[in-house]
Amino acid sequence: MAVRVEHNFDLTNYNSYRIKATCKRAFFPSCEEDFMEIYAHGLNDKIIIGGGYNIIFSKEYYNEDFIIVGDSYSSIRLDGENIISCEAGSSTKDLSEFALANSLSGVEIFYDIPSSLGGAVVMNAGASGEEIKDILVKVRYLDLADMQIKEIMQEDIGYEYRNSLFQRETNKVVLKAWLRLTPGDPEGIRNKMEAVKEARWAKQPKEYPNAGSVFKRPPGHYVGPMIDELSLKGYRVGGAEVSKKHGGFIVNIDNATGQDIINVIKHVQQKVREKFNVDLEIEQRII
Ligand SMILES: Cc1cc2nc3c(=O)[nH]c(=O)nc-3n(C[C@H](O)[C@H](O)[C@H](O)COP(=O)(O)OP(=O)(O)OC[C@H]3O[C@@H](n4cnc5c(N)ncnc54)[C@H](O)[C@@H]3O)c2cc1C
Repeated sequence: MAVRVEHNFDLTNYNSYRIKATCKRAFFPSCEEDFMEIYAHGLNDKIIIGGGYNIIFSKEYYNEDFIIVGDSYSSIRLDGENIISCEAGSSTKDLSEFALANSLSGVEIFYDIPSSLGGAVVMNAGASGEEIKDILVKVRYLDLADMQIKEIMQEDIGYEYRNSLFQRETNKVVLKAWLRLTPGDPEGIRNKMEAVKEARWAKQPKEYPNAGSVFKRPPGHYVGPMIDELSLKGYRVGGAEVSKKHGGFIVNIDNATGQDIINVIKHVQQKVREKFNVDLEIEQRII
């Protein structure tokens, strides 16, 4: 096999919660042919991750193969007037810096949303009223149903808040995305990138491993204030705790397992349901 593969691979540095987990094999594709080759060896025992910034490992050992879409598949280039194409493993930080270097505006908020492009397309990542779907033109993907590579236009991806066709149909592997940006003044672009980052760092618990907001924002409510009102900040199971800085985050304060995190989530959901009659939906993907 030409694709890089590692056996008994330690996943601790491939999930931002820093949960300790190992998988039987990890593949690191670097081209479309690598994806075809990996799936030619079986479709059902494979788990795909990008940056691992929105996942919770529920097991310590995975018999499944992991496909890690990252640095090895991360080219970013100009592809037409104001269009940038990105391979799925490119990081949103690199994308925003590439856009700045080319005086293009539209991805400033992604400077501080840790993500691979593939993950952002699947999750419809965003902040402050902006989402990846707003600038997306089309996506190239591998359809595992017939092993064909296809392209789909943004309007056919069924985007919703933090949701997409790719989340609902997990037999589609995002390979590449095209984004349409707008020409802008480099100083203004840089200022927005820095301002967004500063505002976010002031609010988020950067001192402990986490995976961003745990829950989706329920219509008509804000998660943080509900958790504050229930005095759940600091609520702890094992090594996982509701952040004392921001109630919408769970942090790994001392060797948390995925199960610790899941137990904190269940407790918060139950308390919020009892008090506010609101069902909190998890944004993070439990694997
Ligand atoms: C500090 C911090 C702050 C955050 N702030 C925000 C925020 O403001 N807004 C926001 O939206 N999110 C935020 N997040 C969450 C995270 O940044 C996003 O969800 C991000 O898009 C996840 O991308 P990823 O590459 O890490 O995906 P992963 O976590 O690796 O995967 C997420 C899901 O996508 C699937 N997937 C990944 N790549 C592919 C692919 N190529 N093809 C098919 N499926 C794939 C995985 O199977 C999984 O189900 C934050 C996270 C952290 C740690």
